[in-house]
Amino acid sequence: IDQSLIRNFSIIAHIDHGKSTLADRILQLTGTVADRDMKNQILDDMDLERERGITIKLNAVQLTYKAKDGKTYLLHLIDTPGHVDFSYEVSRSLAACDGAVLVVDATQGVEAQTLANVYLALDNNLEILPVINKVDLPSADVERVKEEIEDVIGLDAQNAPCISAKTGLNVDEVLEDIVKNIPAPTGSINNPTQALIFDSYYDSYRGVIVIVAVKDGSIKVGDHIHFIATDATYEVTEVGVRTPREITKDELVIGEVGWIAASVKDIKDVHVGDTITTLENQSKTALPGYRRMNPMVYCGLYPVDNARYKDLRDALEKISLSDSALTYEPETSQALGFGFRCGFLGLLHMDVIQERLEREFDLDLIATAPSVIYRIVKRDGSYTSIDNPASMPDPGTFDHIEEPYVKVSIMTPDDYIGAIMDLCQNKRGEYVDIEYLDDSRREVIYNMPLSEIIFDFFDKLKSSTKGYASYDYELIGYRESDLTKMDILLNGEVVDALSTIVYRQFARTRGNAICVKLKELIPKQQFEIPVQAALQGKIIARTNIKAVRKNVLAKCYGGDISRKKKLLEKQKEGKKRMKAVGSVEIPQEAFMAILSVD
Ligand code: GDP
Ligand code: MG
Repeated sequence: IDQSLIRNFSIIAHIDHGKSTLADRILQLTGTVADRDMKNQILDDMDLERERGITIKLNAVQLTYKAKDGKTYLLHLIDTPGHVDFSYEVSRSLAACDGAVLVVDATQGVEAQTLANVYLALDNNLEILPVINKVDLPSADVERVKEEIEDVIGLDAQNAPCISAKTGLNVDEVLEDIVKNIPAPTGSINNPTQALIFDSYYDSYRGVIVIVAVKDGSIKVGDHIHFIATDATYEVTEVGVRTPREITKDELVIGEVGWIAASVKDIKDVHVGDTITTLENQSKTALPGYRRMNPMVYCGLYPVDNARYKDLRDALEKISLSDSALTYEPETSQALGFGFRCGFLGLLHMDVIQERLEREFDLDLIATAPSVIYRIVKRDGSYTSIDNPASMPDPGTFDHIEEPYVKVSIMTPDDYIGAIMDLCQNKRGEYVDIEYLDDSRREVIYNMPLSEIIFDFFDKLKSSTKGYASYDYELIGYRESDLTKMDILLNGEVVDALSTIVYRQFARTRGNAICVKLKELIPKQQFEIPVQAALQGKIIARTNIKAVRKNVLAKCYGGDISRKKKLLEKQKEGKKRMKAVGSVEIPQEAFMAILSVD
């Protein structure tokens, strides 16, 4: 391979602007995937990605492109997710690249994650190539979007390719731009070997597979790879690339992006962000790696069947290989037994992990109400951090509580500014500024408690702006707040897994709403169940779940047997994610009740 003909790039964009579709067209245009094997969003190979129509995991493929200059280039394309919760995947992809193709939807313009991803690319010193997509749509406004890219981002967009990733129009211009403007990798085959691990996953036959970008030197089958951070050494059994089909090769050389198998059985030896070198051509130093992401939301994950605790531990260990932003630690709950306190980047991340654990490891899980990290500050100014409302100490034993605040930036057409300000105000937001983006769009900035953002802010924002606004946020620190723990009692007993920390002024309304919601969600049982919300033992809201009156099967007796079977099956299905707490059966949804009340 001629190193000067290698190009490594990512495709970045706001969600839905067309990254995965552009990747499809590039794979097709370069003949990497034959037309008859083509399907939409081909790189979104996880079932969950296909069902939800979103990219969750980054994906790296190798392809060749014969450019107009007559030379054949070797390209590595890394597709990335667009949702905020997965920005960690983006920053890892970018560290493996030399350039980024920035896709902007010609009907939408620059959105919050367009900007966030540009910052990530700049952090990695990447060449950024703007591309204007969806020009086939009647509402495309290419000139306005070009101006926006220049004004808001500060990139020259005059010569940006104007494409339709859907029809393939002008996609060849993007490839030409890539080979002309993205630099070739700068390392050397003669330098000590350094390869950046930017992803990994567990394969039950071959052990841990690591995905690397080789920055210097080479890695051959039979070489002894050394993980610098964890100081572990293994012999390489296989290396290869994906096209997106997995292809095995004899070696990976400088500039290549591919996978390595080395019978790595101990998952703990592999850290995404670590550097691999070889004993045959050893480097003493590691590549910079990247900043660790800190989880923003925590919840407890418990197996419905207590006997499967060890399986859950195993599953978490394996899944965290391919998702290094996930954290987990054992915890116990009086109500739910043994489980893990898990940390996530956001609610979508939490939801995706729970679903992946259930599908890929055949587990049934209960997730408890999510919580941010609070600081309990003592009189001497020292503090302890808690990520579980159940571990909040009694009032009187500390001075005050602090909660995380974020600076939220919302990009919106100006028609919705009023609605957005109302929403932010209702969520305890503190107005900071409104900035001008162009004639018809503004950036609204508020400081707000993280907990208010995480819960249903996104849905509310979407519905109050018809989906036209986008947002991004960053942590700005902790602030004192008037917060208190709210307990939920079922049948007179506090259920620790249902406790939440609430803003005192919201407690009564929230308490009421949760009780009503629980009444809806918890199936009737043989006896009446009082549902109560309490602050420090003082009841602030209550309702009752009435006892079942008659056998649900009674009306089927003598009737249609298949209908009876169906009913029983339906009940069994419903039982799957149910947990008996004392004498009450609680379904999964009940633990999420806090999210859907307001
Ligand atoms: P991603 O979230 O950035 O990966 O976006 P996708 O590639 O999944 O595309 C989001 C939606 O936009 C899909 O429904 C695509 O079919 C559609 N789309 C992508 N590119 C174009 C385009 O050039 N024209 C039109 N009309 N639709 C497009
Ligand atoms: Mg995608």
